Amino acid sequence: MNNPELSIVIPLYNERDNLIPLEDKLEAELSKLNLSYEIILIDDGSVDGSAHLIESLQKHNPRIRLIQFGHNHGQSAAFSAGFKAARGQIIVTLDADLQNNPADIPLLLEKMQDYDVVCGWRHKRNDPWIKRVSSIIGNAVRNKLSEEEIADTGCSLKAFRRECFDKVKFFKGMHRFFPTLMKMEGFRVTQVKVSHHPRLHGESKYNIRNRLFSSFLDLMAIRWMKKRQINYDIIKED
Ligand code: UDP
Ligand code: MG
Repeated sequence: MNNPELSIVIPLYNERDNLIPLEDKLEAELSKLNLSYEIILIDDGSVDGSAHLIESLQKHNPRIRLIQFGHNHGQSAAFSAGFKAARGQIIVTLDADLQNNPADIPLLLEKMQDYDVVCGWRHKRNDPWIKRVSSIIGNAVRNKLSEEEIADTGCSLKAFRRECFDKVKFFKGMHRFFPTLMKMEGFRVTQVKVSHHPRLHGESKYNIRNRLFSSFLDLMAIRWMKKRQINYDIIKED
């Protein structure tokens, strides 16, 4: 399909057992929308046979596209490759583990009529308590230091107008700061409450140790960038 209206972009790392239910749920929801769409699965160096399973799904589903990394490069790199490949006017991102619910995609699309970016907000997290607490603290610190008001930047379920990616600089960890980066470019950003589900198969790839330090450094960089953003008012220009 050359120019679908919607691109679904999904990074995955060792998510084999989630892929068949993911495809089923996506197809069940997307087929109701009356929109043309593609599903871009970015295999971020899985070693559990995820890519092989995706190739077999592609045999009956031509809307599935596979981008396969040779090694694990991280979720931001996978998003980045997915955005470059996406051909839709609207790009929706979500996780592969079905913690996000494809049934919430219409909520985001509805808001896209008035906004350029719509961020999902997992108002009832279905995660172990340590993750819930660290996320509350993380979001509070992030909002304070970056003077931001996004309740849940860690939620992958988001919708973007494709133009958003023409201006924003990609870097490792950027997926946690999309709302701020896009607001800085003048895009209209909002959030909508979405459901959140326990992980049924496979394991979480993140813990406090592998996330805290690097995301704090990223936050400092974002804070700096925001404070140093060039801003002026012209009252005359001949
Ligand atoms: N993921 C990825 N590359 C990585 C780590 C994670 O593509 O290096 C994917 C993962 O497979 C999942 C999504 O990013 O689809 C979110 O990861 P996870 O569910 O482990 O995060 P959590 O929900 O536990 O915060
Ligand atoms: Mg998850």
